[in-house]
Amino acid sequence: MKKLYIFALIIFAASTVNAQKHIHNKCLEGKISLNKDLFSFDESKYQEKSSFSYDVKYYRLNLLFEDINNKYVAGEITTYFKTKTSGFNQISFDLADNMSVDSIIFRQNKIPMSSITYTSDELTINLPITIANGIIDSISVFYQGIPDPSGGFGSFIQGSHSGTPIIWTLSEPYGAKDWWPCKQSLNDKADSIDVYVTNENVYKAASNGLLISETTQSGMKTAHWKHKHPITAYLIAVAVTNYSAYSDNVILTTGQNVEVLNYVYPEDLSYAQNNTPNVLDVIQLYSDLFIPYPFYDEKYGHAQFGWGGGMEHQTMSFMVGFSHGLMAHELAHQWFGDFVTCGSWAHIWLNEGFATYLDGMTHEHNLSGGDDFDTWKSDRINVVTSQTGGSVWVNDTTNVNRIFSGRLSYYKGALVLHMLRKIVGDDAFFQGLQNYLTDPNIANGYAMTSDLQAHIEATYGSSLEYYFNDWFYGEGYPIYNIIYSQNTPGNINVKINQSQSHNSVDFFEMKVPVKFHGASQDSVIWFNNTSNGQQYIVNLGFTVTSVEFDPNNDIVSTGTTVLKVGTLKDAIRSFISPNPANEEIKVNFIEKIKPEKVNIIDYTGRIIKSFEQENNASYIFKYDIKDLPRGLYFISFKQEGKTVSKKFIKN
Ligand SMILES: [Zn+2]
Repeated sequence: MKKLYIFALIIFAASTVNAQKHIHNKCLEGKISLNKDLFSFDESKYQEKSSFSYDVKYYRLNLLFEDINNKYVAGEITTYFKTKTSGFNQISFDLADNMSVDSIIFRQNKIPMSSITYTSDELTINLPITIANGIIDSISVFYQGIPDPSGGFGSFIQGSHSGTPIIWTLSEPYGAKDWWPCKQSLNDKADSIDVYVTNENVYKAASNGLLISETTQSGMKTAHWKHKHPITAYLIAVAVTNYSAYSDNVILTTGQNVEVLNYVYPEDLSYAQNNTPNVLDVIQLYSDLFIPYPFYDEKYGHAQFGWGGGMEHQTMSFMVGFSHGLMAHELAHQWFGDFVTCGSWAHIWLNEGFATYLDGMTHEHNLSGGDDFDTWKSDRINVVTSQTGGSVWVNDTTNVNRIFSGRLSYYKGALVLHMLRKIVGDDAFFQGLQNYLTDPNIANGYAMTSDLQAHIEATYGSSLEYYFNDWFYGEGYPIYNIIYSQNTPGNINVKINQSQSHNSVDFFEMKVPVKFHGASQDSVIWFNNTSNGQQYIVNLGFTVTSVEFDPNNDIVSTGTTVLKVGTLKDAIRSFISPNPANEEIKVNFIEKIKPEKVNIIDYTGRIIKSFEQENNASYIFKYDIKDLPRGLYFISFKQEGKTVSKKFIKN
């Protein structure tokens, strides 16, 4: 899913004719009320209650919208399930309490309502028999009501466009149960689904998979959609309005023909027809980089809706408009999010970080028609580093705004993938991702971050534990201070100091790109930076005129300083942090020194405070300034007849 953020508005406003009227951030609507037992999990996959001890094999959704001017649905949901425990005599579904359950049919018989408990958004049915372990059976729930999403993105919306009514659903993350009885977990996909949607004859219903038929009876139309791939509950969706329909097609280089079916508002038809073909090259790109589009035997599709963004419903993304970035993002989810779904909302970056990064790859491959890749990365680095903390790992899955944090789950997630790629190299990165997508334990199912780590480690051939600890669980980013000198032409001495924006990470072990510019040539060196203050000698073969940190915006970092010194032994070169300071200043020297005298001097030149001679030579000295009044000061060091003063502010 892609929310619209303030920083994304320009993209959509520029390329989406009807975006303006829709732009609003639904994500600020508030927190959704949750069943914490079910969804507030951390690393372990959701432990099922005994009444949920079944595998969903199949859902048949039979939905009736009598009049889409009204927010109302009546349905019959048939679930085929396979028991996972012996003595199975009770089955539960997630269903919001405000929906009314009319009847339940099991083996052709009605279940007495006295056998049903329905509370806390959980419908529990006591079966008249006990089913043995490993048996497939089915049950049908008839229900109706006015879905009343309590938060999130509004899982079931009745609205209008140009005066025409529309109903659409958007269940991610916790809203499927708002409008249909299902097993709303992140560890059980139905193997296949049928979706029958009945509505007034003048409208068309969009849904997952292939359109098998549209039949009319008594002024009502029934669309039958069939999807024969595993699918999780939140990715099942319907939208109904007066759609105009047309298809684009792409034949992949691997031979598969992929139909892209577009259901668009009639008033936006020519706009859509001008833009949706742009997704065809992107289907080819992702198929080349990873695996062929996973649902090529059915279709890909877009269905226009009124939410301010897009939602990657499997084989049929719902779209506010058809900007390149939004189409590329939602398409990417078909691989990362739909074919392989995050196994926990704490790991949503496996959906959103990937979808964001794959959109970035359309810039890298010059398909976007927009910014170049370096600019694309830079814009996202700026957003990520606009705050000093925050992890890609979602530390509160009860907070929908936190799950879908644009800065963390989307942008930092994407850049963490990019930096991982730079560390392991393209071969290991892309081969690892192909292995991840085709792992039989993951494909058509769910993944955790440890699964991604294991596959990249396998192709890289080395542990990446440190990287995932720093960048997935850890917060913040590194801040670099790079010092260099060139005493002899061709040879350059480089020292890389690093501090961290957040104390959850001691040190980011990174490959740090530095570009050395010369009069007629330049060179980018990736330094393997494994400790603070690490020094390198590089034989460049040319005289350096300037040095540039991270020339292509490959590192999540900000505030880098680059300092040229005559020689690394020139110990009087130093820098102070923090500055301003109020408790202590840290003075960092380029070379170990042992100052003979250290004074703090005020702006009139008066010595305010003196410190005794240090016993040991060191790079770093710390001085207590708590007792100084606020103001401007200098700290002076004397060594071997030389004195150097550094200015700092006490606040
Ligand atoms: Zn997304």
